[in-house]
Amino acid sequence: MRFIPLLLLSALSQSSAAQTFFHNVRVFDGARALPSRDVLVQDGKIVRVGTGLSAPANATVIDGAGKTLLPGLIDAHTHAWGTALTTALAFGVTTELEMFGDTGTARAWRSEQRAGKATSRADILSAGTLVTVKGGHGTEYGQAIPTLSSASDAQSFVDARIAEGSDYVKIVYDDGRTYGSSWPTLSPEMLRATVSAAHARGKLALVHIGDLASARAAIDAGADGLAHLFVDRDPDPELGAFIAAHKAFVVPTLTVLKSITGIPGAGPLADDPRFSPFFTKQELSMLKQAFPRRPGPPTVSYASAEATVKQLRAAHVPILAGTDAGNPGTAHGAALHRELELLVNAGLTPAEALASATSIPATIFHLADRGRVAEGLRADLLLVTGDPTTDILATRDIVGVWKQGVAFKRESVSESIASEAAAQNQMPAGAESGLVSDFDDGTPTSKFGAGWSVSTDAMAGGKSTAEMIVVDGGADGSAKSLAIRGTISDAFKQAWAGAMFSPGKQIFQPANLGAKKEIRFWTKGDGKTYRVFVFAESKGYVPLTQTFVAGAEWKEYVFPLASFDGIDGRGIMALIFGGGPAPGSFALQIDHVAFK
Ligand SMILES: [Zn+2]
Repeated sequence: MRFIPLLLLSALSQSSAAQTFFHNVRVFDGARALPSRDVLVQDGKIVRVGTGLSAPANATVIDGAGKTLLPGLIDAHTHAWGTALTTALAFGVTTELEMFGDTGTARAWRSEQRAGKATSRADILSAGTLVTVKGGHGTEYGQAIPTLSSASDAQSFVDARIAEGSDYVKIVYDDGRTYGSSWPTLSPEMLRATVSAAHARGKLALVHIGDLASARAAIDAGADGLAHLFVDRDPDPELGAFIAAHKAFVVPTLTVLKSITGIPGAGPLADDPRFSPFFTKQELSMLKQAFPRRPGPPTVSYASAEATVKQLRAAHVPILAGTDAGNPGTAHGAALHRELELLVNAGLTPAEALASATSIPATIFHLADRGRVAEGLRADLLLVTGDPTTDILATRDIVGVWKQGVAFKRESVSESIASEAAAQNQMPAGAESGLVSDFDDGTPTSKFGAGWSVSTDAMAGGKSTAEMIVVDGGADGSAKSLAIRGTISDAFKQAWAGAMFSPGKQIFQPANLGAKKEIRFWTKGDGKTYRVFVFAESKGYVPLTQTFVAGAEWKEYVFPLASFDGIDGRGIMALIFGGGPAPGSFALQIDHVAFK
């Protein structure tokens, strides 16, 4: 019988190990600040919130003096992939509400959440595939998605999304006019039918709009909420009352609206030493970008969005903090801190802004288990120094983050970024001589990096094609060379197709070729002009281009790296030799490709 007390002992020590006691901490409970509280967390839940409590014997005790404990933050507009949800958690965002994303990824994430295993990343709910028309906004990202073709199909279309797992329905009602573009979009009848179809299944319907008129039309069609505000003009004086009368909510997404009006929305965070160690170089580059503005009209104004937020607040319309993370000028998790600041600048009190990122989205999205610091709720918690209920910038002084009661090792994010960066600082093994490939062994292998692969505009929705084959006869009397041929399609304005070399360990992973000054290669071909593209980490995913002619005789070209928009050899991600953008067939050979 000896094993019984042992079992008992182990059960006891397990439960006490899962206890955390916050002593004498200011609590923002989702609506207001409560001074000097004690909060006990056990087995993933908040079990006591009170004053004068004593810590259980084996609890981890956290001194809350001078600090504020908040519910984990909820970002009500994101697009997540890769490690986005881990990054989000490092910044205290414990739930993301995705407004369009990959349905398979979201399904995998949801099942991990249901199993209670998602303690080292943010939770996610997702709209899955958004509702748009053929060629409409949402179809331009190079991934084939189903589109709605008529109002009578709305119910079956929405049912198919729900069958894929969509937690709510996101509808695009935007013809691009605000941005000087023109896309097809849903007709008013399709909009109304889709909103009704969502409601028939008990799902929320959120609408992406691009201007004031569409915002009104969406609310009039019965939308539960707007997924963005507009920047085309100031609100009419009755807009707030109109939205309030329809009991709708709004996710302003001020961060991305700043980016849309030409200023990287969360850009200032890139230089905040409390945040910058948690960003990869790509995330830093994304944070510092705005959307490209087309010259000339139409004009857009961020001030219009601020004026609308003021009106919505005065009319008591629920406002939800959302960043549209995944877009230029944003970053998962971090950008929500900027959104809170922008909401306060637009007239919310700090406590109202905090509610917009905690209790309000939890209530609206029926997340009854989170969004407040209250007994019985999930222990998704953020501890900061100072008092964000009086100074919203205090949310950035993060002391700790807990997901379902488990303390998140925030440094795991910054450490893995630092070690990745250190690895990339080494010149790739095999790159000493600089020769990439001479193809003389008859294969398209390379002396270093991830080697050669075919790259075409299919990844951006184009239809160009290419193939690469090692052929007999190389430059300078050598045995072999690489033939690249294909067809450039006219389906896509920025068409390209060709052969890509990736100097890093994986395709598009940056490599440090800082010791190299130029790109050299030999070429011959059909006499046409071709392009060599370089992708460098410092320029994001913008292709840097030089042109060359592939004539009847072999000829060597030498391009200084600096001729590609001033870059040097650090952080080179890819080198592409290809045809386009003029449509038609192309054929060239390359040989003795080298970084020297
Ligand atoms: Zn979005």
